[in-house]
Amino acid sequence: PVVTRFAPSPTGFLHIGGARTALFNWLYARRHNGKMLLRIEDTDRERSTEAAVEAIFDGLRWLGLDWDGDATRQFARAERHAEVAHTLLAQGRAYHCYATPEELETMREQARAEGRPMRYDGRWRDRDPSEAPAGVRPVVRLKAPQEGETVIDDEVQGRVTWRNENLDDLVLLRSDGTPTYMLAVVVDDHDMGVTHVIRGDDHLTNAARQKHIYEALGWEVPVMAHIPLIHGPDGAKLSKRHGALGVDAYRSLGYLPEALRNYLVRLGWAHGDQEIFSTEEMIAAFSLSSIGRSPARFDFAKLENLNGHYMRAAPDADLVAAVEAILPEIGPARGLPDKLNEKTREQLTAAMPGLKERAKTLVELVESAYFIFGQRPLALDEKALSLLGNGGRERLRIVADKLAALTEWSAQTTEAAVREAAVEAEVKLGQVAQPLRAALTGRATSPGLFDVLAVLGREESLARLNDQTT
Ligand code: GLU
Repeated sequence: PVVTRFAPSPTGFLHIGGARTALFNWLYARRHNGKMLLRIEDTDRERSTEAAVEAIFDGLRWLGLDWDGDATRQFARAERHAEVAHTLLAQGRAYHCYATPEELETMREQARAEGRPMRYDGRWRDRDPSEAPAGVRPVVRLKAPQEGETVIDDEVQGRVTWRNENLDDLVLLRSDGTPTYMLAVVVDDHDMGVTHVIRGDDHLTNAARQKHIYEALGWEVPVMAHIPLIHGPDGAKLSKRHGALGVDAYRSLGYLPEALRNYLVRLGWAHGDQEIFSTEEMIAAFSLSSIGRSPARFDFAKLENLNGHYMRAAPDADLVAAVEAILPEIGPARGLPDKLNEKTREQLTAAMPGLKERAKTLVELVESAYFIFGQRPLALDEKALSLLGNGGRERLRIVADKLAALTEWSAQTTEAAVREAAVEAEVKLGQVAQPLRAALTGRATSPGLFDVLAVLGREESLARLNDQTT
């Protein structure tokens, strides 16, 4: 059975690249009726925080990516990691290294001078520990193969080969006895029964070193799939400006989780030229072999379009619920309330078919629903105010009288009244409609005017017109 895992380090928010890695692991596991496990790699005690762990859980849940069982905490397994290192020591597959910081610095300088990565020269590999200098606490190093090659047949990268003379004896336990990242990952993946390691290609070289550990332990190496990182639209490494934000930021920007998930699956993976995938379709179509080898480029415009698509397709009630969920976060900063009441919920629901046609994000949608939330007397923005100048207010009076005379209030009857007013004032429809829009919504642009009239209702509409004409 397939077992994948997502193994984030809780040192910041769940960023967009991590979310995509999680999604690919989740899809692969679901595709093969396997499991996706979650491992919190919290061994960096200085930088790991509980808040970041919560942000990872929240982000995954928001995206609808569930994991099997409880999350494993890597730091809690430090004793097990050390035990494995001691087994290797006992078997002669690892050794104590007493090289001093000065000796290591000399090796580092030499590598720098020759323009190659630092390589530990293995000087304690076969040396008798009785020669150990006093006062140096040793690290434990793996006896890595010194000749030949290490080969990984990666599901995405293809066959990747390293000459072992370029890889050194990596450290398994630090001098204080704590396990290194390299050891912890191998032991955890083995103990958790992970069959497929799907992660960013920044870990590709680690894979070669981790393979040495697997082989020394006589453990089976999992299938590897190293996915190219996400780049910005200009091809440069993804930065904040490009969209390297936490998943929580996308939520606050007003994206729907289904839209972000659909966007992420297409970042580096393709299934013909299909762009829109339901969850079931993604799971059915997902395969590692269809992941590209070149970096995916992040494209905000594409994400917006997808989000618009998902908003138009969403049931109105779901969108109202989505607005309610982010209103506390986005409302007050925009002069809007932080929650809905019975009336505004009803009005928002009634206006939703018109609102969702235009908006690409929930934030845009809420902004265009200002007319629902605004309190009388409504504050008009500058453009709206200018529409009441130049005879606008006089035309508004004519249309207000026509509307006041209506006995039945609907999108149809109000439209007829507005048209009549235009005829009476001998102007084009727009010359009546614009001041009307300004007085009702406080803005120069809004959803369909007759929808606005219908949603606000007779009493509120007439009161707003009265506010501007007297
Ligand atoms: N904790 C590592 C990271 O956040 C991932 C390690 C792995 O997937 O093997 O990049």
